[in-house]
Amino acid sequence: MNAAERQFHEEWVAEVEALGPAIKGSLTQFRRRCGKRGCKKCASGEGHLTWQLSYYVGGVHKNCHVGPGQLEAVRRALANGKALEQAMSANGFKLVKLLKGKEV
Ligand SMILES: [Zn+2]
Repeated sequence: MNAAERQFHEEWVAEVEALGPAIKGSLTQFRRRCGKRGCKKCASGEGHLTWQLSYYVGGVHKNCHVGPGQLEAVRRALANGKALEQAMSANGFKLVKLLKGKEV
């Protein structure tokens, strides 16, 4: 790795570090049944509003429940994941220019 490539890499690491936690997936809200006997919300058909994070790991679809206390952090991490993907796309052009010995 030459000096220009090292600088490019260090700038990338700083950019990723500044973003914070980054994830890829989708957040959906739906109503579920809790399964508890005598639950008035389930008996009325209202159910319980819940959030779920869906994502893929090695091509396998997975889900996990997201509690109200985790919702904002998960939304931020999803936004960071999108920003990271955009930054990675932009980096391809920058890297090729750098490898050709041009200013980035
Ligand atoms: Zn219920």
